[in-house]
Amino acid sequence: MTGRSKVKNWLTDMDGVLWHEGKPIPGAPELVKKWQAEGTEFLVLTNNSIYTPRDLAARLQAGGLDVPESRIYTSALATADFVRSQKPGGTAFVIGEAGLTTAMHEIGYVMTEVDPDYVVLGETRNLSFDALTKAVRLINKGARFIATNPDVTGPSAEGPLPATGAVAALITAATGKDPYIVGKPNPMMFRSAMNKINVHSEDTAMIGDRMDTDIVAGIEAGLHTILVRTGISDDAEIAKYPFRPTEILNSVADLI
Ligand SMILES: [Mg+2]
Repeated sequence: MTGRSKVKNWLTDMDGVLWHEGKPIPGAPELVKKWQAEGTEFLVLTNNSIYTPRDLAARLQAGGLDVPESRIYTSALATADFVRSQKPGGTAFVIGEAGLTTAMHEIGYVMTEVDPDYVVLGETRNLSFDALTKAVRLINKGARFIATNPDVTGPSAEGPLPATGAVAALITAATGKDPYIVGKPNPMMFRSAMNKINVHSEDTAMIGDRMDTDIVAGIEAGLHTILVRTGISDDAEIAKYPFRPTEILNSVADLI
């Protein structure tokens, strides 16, 4: 794909693109409104697997950004979609919060500690030594190890929090097994999102604020990629990478 005129459908990252520290980024509410009014297919993506789409929609709405629950796609949903496609009707031992356990139930999985097909790790703020021990033993016995996202830290107002990737590293150290990680930068997350809204890479764009996740995965998934400068990447950061996004914009306000 070349020009933006061919783009009919949109995937967009949430944090740093539409949303920052409890508030919409200027232009984001108008852009989402425009997509809705035009009947454009779009999904808002996040690697955060703590919350369900309903919880996230409520949090965004409270801050002034109206995104319907059906337009939010989390790494927990992508992970559930992945295990369902690999083994329909399977079983899993899950370490995670409502975002992940709800997604796993919705695909018809049974949560069990007895000989599960998978150990699935998501973001959690309630880490238990007992659950970690179970995960390690089940993986040693042959359960396949899956993680929702690779992020080793997550943001908070008080400073960084240890995140899924850091807990996965602990389990890897104890088992010698690396997880298969579904969330960004695995382009699997974007393919899964496109399947959900029934669109194809030829006429779909990805908007992100990170070169090392959003943009590289967008390129690998064959998407038109747009980097916005409202998040992590500045021009010096952008220049460090051997790949380029299709476009660089100051913010999503440039897309209204
Ligand atoms: Mg971001």
